[in-house]
Amino acid sequence: MTIKTADIQFNADGTPIATNFDDVYFSSCDGASETEYVFLHNNLLPQRWQQWSKPSFVIAETGFGTGLNLLVTLAAFKQHLAQNPASKISLHFISTEKFPLTHTDLVQALGAFVQFEDDAKALIDQYPMPLDGCHRMSFVNNRVIVDLWLGDIHDSLPQWHTNEDGLVNAWYLDGFAPSKNPQMWSPQLFEQMARLASKDCTFATFTAAGFVKRGLRDAGFVVEKRKGHGRKREMLAGCIASESEIQINRQQARYYQRAAYVNLATVITSNAESHAQTALASKPKVAIIGAGIAGASMAYAMAKKGYDCDIYFNDATPAQGASGNPQAGFYPQLNVDASHASQINAHSFVYAANQYRQLQSQGFQFAHQWCGVLQLGFKPALAERYAKLTESQLWPFELVRYVEPSEAAQLANCDMPYGGLFMPLGGWIDPAQLVDALFAAAAKLSQVRLYSHHALKRIEQKNVSNTAQENTRWQLHFDDSMGTSKKNENTSLALADIVIYATGAQSHGISELANFPLRMVRGQVEAVPAQAALSKLKTVLCHKGYLTPEYNGQHALGSTYVKNDLSTDYRLSEQVKNLATHYQSLSDCHWAQEVVGNAQGRAAVRCSSPDHLPLMGALADIDKQKEELSDLYKALPLGYYPKGSDITNVFMLTGLGSRGLTTAPLMAEVLASQISGQPLPMANDLLNTLNPNRFLIRQLIRREV
Ligand code: SAM
Repeated sequence: MTIKTADIQFNADGTPIATNFDDVYFSSCDGASETEYVFLHNNLLPQRWQQWSKPSFVIAETGFGTGLNLLVTLAAFKQHLAQNPASKISLHFISTEKFPLTHTDLVQALGAFVQFEDDAKALIDQYPMPLDGCHRMSFVNNRVIVDLWLGDIHDSLPQWHTNEDGLVNAWYLDGFAPSKNPQMWSPQLFEQMARLASKDCTFATFTAAGFVKRGLRDAGFVVEKRKGHGRKREMLAGCIASESEIQINRQQARYYQRAAYVNLATVITSNAESHAQTALASKPKVAIIGAGIAGASMAYAMAKKGYDCDIYFNDATPAQGASGNPQAGFYPQLNVDASHASQINAHSFVYAANQYRQLQSQGFQFAHQWCGVLQLGFKPALAERYAKLTESQLWPFELVRYVEPSEAAQLANCDMPYGGLFMPLGGWIDPAQLVDALFAAAAKLSQVRLYSHHALKRIEQKNVSNTAQENTRWQLHFDDSMGTSKKNENTSLALADIVIYATGAQSHGISELANFPLRMVRGQVEAVPAQAALSKLKTVLCHKGYLTPEYNGQHALGSTYVKNDLSTDYRLSEQVKNLATHYQSLSDCHWAQEVVGNAQGRAAVRCSSPDHLPLMGALADIDKQKEELSDLYKALPLGYYPKGSDITNVFMLTGLGSRGLTTAPLMAEVLASQISGQPLPMANDLLNTLNPNRFLIRQLIRREV
């Protein structure tokens, strides 16, 4: 949903003031030093970073505002890295904002802080459109990840995923003064802060208001009054009470709990040198099965987090399945309601649009045009629905807007009797080139090895030991008929700590995936020759099918959907179907009737799911979960139900259907975050909607199994 932006005025010194709250965003005299004192110093930063033994440190903030707290924190973290070059920690900064600044106001507000110029520019470049939900940004070469959750804090915090050890190591409790914004400083906020706190969590806030102090205590924090900044007398800071003193209710639906990678290695010598070697050797090795858009996005997401990846795939080159068409439309499927599916599509699209543009700016090239996508209202009822979608302001203007036929004609550069929805960030991409670009980008960050002609048959747990450690790893078995064993005599190549199935249509041959309701759908896309008016087309047109602008003398016109058909032969009968759909949809458009096929195109099989959404997460042990959760239909309190069993260290990202270009990057980023035990950039409700075990859970609730 679109959210309202902040109403701001700048005072004589250039300090931003929120008109509706009648309060400043930061202190007029010295905002940066106030942040440093109140939030960093009182959360014992940067000292805690020096002793931190876990891979990441998580700060969470209430009220992002101008991002000044973030910029001050980034500067301190960069200084920490400069002074501690051996430091391995990464920083996660999670924030919330109900009324985001407009881009213009943000530029003006941050203009005053020349000392943070570079990071301010990086923030301004990545600053999200006003779409509610989580937006992930990255700073300092991916060492700092920022998740900005747009929306009311009372809606956002319950949607943050946490495992049973908590999530947040330090809270910055910011916001307009409690007297000016009492709605925010509520018992529910303090309870959520406690729910999300790790056991070593600290907090700090500029206020010393009595009800804040009591509220934090009641929620489970140990609260101290400390000296305030500058002329302010007092402020509050403290930490979460020990677990023996409080009881925190972290209970979510545990059967949807997301499992991270578990290190199964045990050290078998106590020699210090071997310990060091073990630590080095224990960097988990990742096997990604599949080299389409899902596999490539997964490799890039894992590489950004420092993992080395081996990619195994059946064909001679990557992207030979559904990701192999020369042109594919890139746009989200947005509905007139903010259903979970629509939200997943909208967020995935925005994330992918940013990622693809960033890849290009880093020099990784792939054929594409960001020419926008026009979804045509080719029937009156459809046109009315599209117009309403824009009127309701459900989606931000930057994402989608209604255009009248005259503007549609201008955008398409063709006669156009229909209006429709225009998505300016969309366009078309050559998916196979994009896949290559993603692997190249991943290889710049980490070790990425591609193994062609490796058709996986099954995986098996294997105990492996050397002098320093014993480990349970996955042994990958490939189809011998492809000559795999000869090509790879070194069997260690087929051992992995983490296995990720990104197998698209190949999923149907893999026994571990047999318990998931994957649907195979054949689709044929025509390559129609450019001619006359058609060659002038400047934007992607969508109706019941789609038509792209010219690329190498051809336009892509698609697509058929044939369920349960695994063959990929080109069929004239489907050319007739594709053309007929096109003629029929654009019946009032004379140039569209002149489009002809020449029996050229490509058919591929996509892997879809019953609800048309991806399956992303740990590989659920469906047989075990059936037993563990057999009385789910009784709807007992959530805490009663156990966490459903998963196959340890095996994950899946499949079921992307024909929407992989849109969904793969965010799905991969979420899954890579899950595997590495980092904060997840997606709301719990959406995560549950994508959990591979969801079909079983629904059946168990309805008592259908
Ligand atoms: N930390 C900010 C910075 O570095 O610029 C300053 C924060 S400003 C004082 C308070 C922020 O909290 C505002 O941006 C305001 O819109 C936001 N806010 C107020 N109520 C909120 C709520 N219920 N949920 C989320 N954000 C809220």
